[in-house]
Amino acid sequence: MKKLTILLIIMTLVVSSVILIVNHQTNQGLLNNSNTNHMNSNSSISNIVNQNKKPSKNLTKQVEKTKDKQITSKSSDQAKKSKNIVITIDPGHQMYANIEQEPVAPGSLETKYKATVGSRGIVTRKPEYAITLEASKMLQKKLKKKGYQVFLTRKSNDVDLSNRDRAEIANKHKSALFIRVHADGAENSNAKGFSIIAPSKNNPNTKNVFENSQKASKKIVQQVGKEFPLYQNGLSYRADLSGFNWSKVPVILLELGYVTNPAEDRNLSNKKYLDKLTTSIAKGVGNYLHENQK
Ligand SMILES: [Zn+2]
Repeated sequence: MKKLTILLIIMTLVVSSVILIVNHQTNQGLLNNSNTNHMNSNSSISNIVNQNKKPSKNLTKQVEKTKDKQITSKSSDQAKKSKNIVITIDPGHQMYANIEQEPVAPGSLETKYKATVGSRGIVTRKPEYAITLEASKMLQKKLKKKGYQVFLTRKSNDVDLSNRDRAEIANKHKSALFIRVHADGAENSNAKGFSIIAPSKNNPNTKNVFENSQKASKKIVQQVGKEFPLYQNGLSYRADLSGFNWSKVPVILLELGYVTNPAEDRNLSNKKYLDKLTTSIAKGVGNYLHENQK
């Protein structure tokens, strides 16, 4: 009889410790699971914000999350990330020049005109400010479709915005990229092709944005070069542009093509051509931003 009681006690002890071990392991699994979620969430700031907003979930809810659900939430995270990325596009020039002077850089004694009209199509006679506005609106639409928040510095041609004003609009929006849209002109009417101007390496005014501006330029040139002719290698650098020097965010200037080249001038006034070109540019911008947000 005594032996049986002892045996029963031992069995009860064994069974309860088995239950304890199983419970412990399950909890451990739950904790690991929530840790993984936490680490995934940490990969983006927007997620941290979202996570802080959410009421804390209990462990049971955490375990209900299937892998599928995690994948879905990851792709919607991607969309949220894009929505938090701001791009500012500046359609170059304006209908009326403003020949007042402004410093070419913060603290600089050197000055330049506040705004100019730009060049004009050699065949179409279309002004550059009109071409840049059309192209910028198209580009805005395409980048919005990719999920980015996109601002234009101007929506009409009859404005008065200096190059400094335009850069400050991009700064105010804390833009991930400030895209200035222009068309080129040259004395040699054979000159043609798309190119990008980026801030120079040794310019103290753009020291902080040089690297990302260059990365963005290269990505876009790489993409556009697949479908369109490039002017030379498609990339050059300048330190004398007010629109660069006043920019505190990565900044690039697109030269869509040469309005002094008859064929290219016609192309830049052709909606289909401009549509295809801006699609390619938007792809390049997307490639840069996608890579940079990882
Ligand atoms: Zn221009």
